[in-house]
Parts: sequence; structure tokens; C-alpha cells
Amino acid sequence: MPSYVDPEKCDGCKGGDKTACMYICPNDLMVLNVEEMKAYNQEPDACWECYSCVKICPQGAILVRGYSDFVPLGGQVHPMRSSDSIMWTVKFRNGNIKRFKFPIRTTAEGAANAYLDLKCDNLDDELLSTEPADILSKHP
Ligand code: SF4
Ligand code: SF4
Repeated sequence: MPSYVDPEKCDGCKGGDKTACMYICPNDLMVLNVEEMKAYNQEPDACWECYSCVKICPQGAILVRGYSDFVPLGGQVHPMRSSDSIMWTVKFRNGNIKRFKFPIRTTAEGAANAYLDLKCDNLDDELLSTEPADILSKHP
């Protein structure tokens, strides 16, 4: 089931050029109604429930109606992200609430370097970027 925005909680990311949910959606589904300053999912049928917008929204304003095998009718799952962990609050349909906290990163935000192990910077080369230059002589 697609994501939806709770208009009571959404503050339009305080009028920034691009809202957090617009920035993160891999499908460009989230748009901002600039008159109301409320975001909405413009094409729910195309939403693949990746939860990216749910996790990034600073107001916790976006929810996903989970599928019944994951979230039985009447239940709710809500993530709250911090800089190094994520807390999932699961509300069961009988009212029980459970929280699960998981670490999400081991490097500081903004410090990750995806190219640290890069051995080759020539894109025309047959080598994979992580293969050392002498690998062909070792494994002809
Ligand atoms: S990220 Fe949240 S607060 Fe910001 S515009 Fe989207 S729904 Fe509203
Ligand atoms: S759940 Fe994923 S695909 Fe759906 S609107 Fe949010 S970011 Fe986009």
C-alpha cells in the first residue's frame, strides 16, 4: 500500500526549495502543494513502499499502509531515524506497542567514502574498479 501524508503533521519542510520527501523518493512521487504547504503522493499506484520518504520526513508525517502479512489491519509501523540508529515503533491492532532500535551506520554522517577501495580510475580499462592492476598477470 502506498505512502500517504498526514496533513496535520506536515509543515512543507518549512518552505524549502525541495522538501525532504521530494528529495528522497526514487520515483519522484512526492510533490508539495505550495498554497497549503503540504506534501502528497501524486501517484500512489507507482509507489513501491520503499519507506524512504517515511524515514526521512523530519515531522514523522508520512505513513505507509503496510500489507497484511507485515502489518495486520489496524496496525501501524512507524520509523524514527536518528544520526546513527533507527527506532521502529510497531502498534498492534490490540493497542500493544513495541519498539525496536537498530544501528544504521558506523561512520559519521557525511563521512562515508564509497571510493576508498577504488584501485582503478580508468573507465576504459577491462578491470573492475576494485581489482589491482597486476591481477591479469597473476590470472591470465
Ligand atoms: S518531508 Fe515530511 S514535513 Fe517535509 S514536506 Fe514531506 S511530508 Fe511534509
Ligand atoms: S514509499 Fe518510496 S516510492 Fe513510495 S512515495 Fe515514499 S519514497 Fe516514494
